This record gives sequence, structure tokens and C-alpha cells, in this order.
Amino acid sequence: MSVVPRVGVLSLQGDFACHRSSLEALGVEAVRVVRRDHLDALDALVMPGGESTTMLRLMEANGLKEPLAAFVRARPVMGTCAGVILLGRDAERLPFAPLGVLDVSVERNAYGRQIDSFSSRLESAVLGGDYHGVFIRAPRIRRVGDGVQVVATLPARGREAPSIVGVRQGRIVGLCFHPELTSDLRFHRWFLSDVAGLALPAVDARGVLASLAPRAVPQTESS
Ligand code: GLN
Repeated sequence: MSVVPRVGVLSLQGDFACHRSSLEALGVEAVRVVRRDHLDALDALVMPGGESTTMLRLMEANGLKEPLAAFVRARPVMGTCAGVILLGRDAERLPFAPLGVLDVSVERNAYGRQIDSFSSRLESAVLGGDYHGVFIRAPRIRRVGDGVQVVATLPARGREAPSIVGVRQGRIVGLCFHPELTSDLRFHRWFLSDVAGLALPAVDARGVLASLAPRAVPQTESS
């Protein structure tokens, strides 16, 4: 009998519920992580979008930062939007140092304020084609260190130059957009199977479940 993979979703703040739905649609068990013991016996972890400053403060306040740092140094993790800010080496205006396991420098709110949020076509070699990314007060990756692979690029938009919006360093993935806010599960599927090496139940070739309806984009709080 095959064992169902257990994947944690950091659930201190942000759109963790959407990640849980995406993971469950791919047939894995999604586990809420709000305390250190919730990290026990997880095969991988997802760190959601939301507000990185709030999440860092909550991690510091409830003693989760050190156990999380230990987990992400050793086990597969995917951070999306605020999640990539928390995994990176540095970003501006954070109240505490981020976890620093992903050798990138991240520019917060790189495309403007909440009202400048957008969705756009991305290029991704690891998916073998295009992807439609949702960007909500999104960061962009300014610098990538040696050994960091670019896995998603946002083409030039108007006067904006192309930017790096997805990276992988070993078992660590950072995405600047929100794959959990669309019904296209290819990034979750790629993370779970190719990066984390987990065996997933069968879904169709694109990793898309027709039964998963597109979701409305939630508003996030401005800082
Ligand atoms: N702007 C937020 C931050 O800096 C990230 C936004 C998001 O996760 N959608 O933390």
C-alpha cells in the first residue's frame, strides 16, 4: 500500500488555506503548521504568501523561527511571494533577519502597491512552457547566488525589464507569484515530485484538475 505524503503549510498568516486546497487536489495530506511539533514527520513544507513582516514577527513571538530554520536547512520547502522573502538572504525593511537559506536578494513590493497587482504570462523551462502568474504586491529577485537555478521569468512589461520570479536551489524553491490562486497546479506538482521526490497519485498530464474551480484573488493588507 502506498503512503500518502504529508506536506506542511505554514499557517501563521496569509493565504495558507489556498495552498492546502492545491496540495489536497494533488492527493497529498496537507498539515497546518502553527507550532514547532507540527513540523514533525513532514515530507515537505510550503510557506505561503501574505505579509512577510507579520509572519516574521509571529515566528519570533511563538518560538517557531529556529525549528523552521532547522527544517528548511534539511528538508524540501517551497515559498511563494512572502514565503520567498522569508527564505531569502536579504530583503529591505524587515523587522528581523529572514531564514536566509536561499541565496537570493529579494526586492519587496517591486511592482508597486496593492492597486498595481496584476497577472501575467511567465516563461518557465522547468514546466516546459508558459504559465499564468498572479502577482499581488509581489517581490522580485534582484540577485541570484551560485547554484541558484532560475525557474520562472516575467517577460518585459511596458518599460519594466524582464525579471526573475522563480528560483530553485537544491530542495528549496522560491516563487514571487501565487500558484495557489489558480487552478493550474503544475508548480505544486513540480515541487512535490521533481524537487521533493514524492510519489503523487495520478492527475492529468498538465497537473490540472478540471474539478478545481478558479478562485477569487483575496485582498492583502498594505504595509
Ligand atoms: N508585499 C508582501 C511582503 O512584503 C508580500 C505580498 C504577498 O505575499 N502577496 O511581505
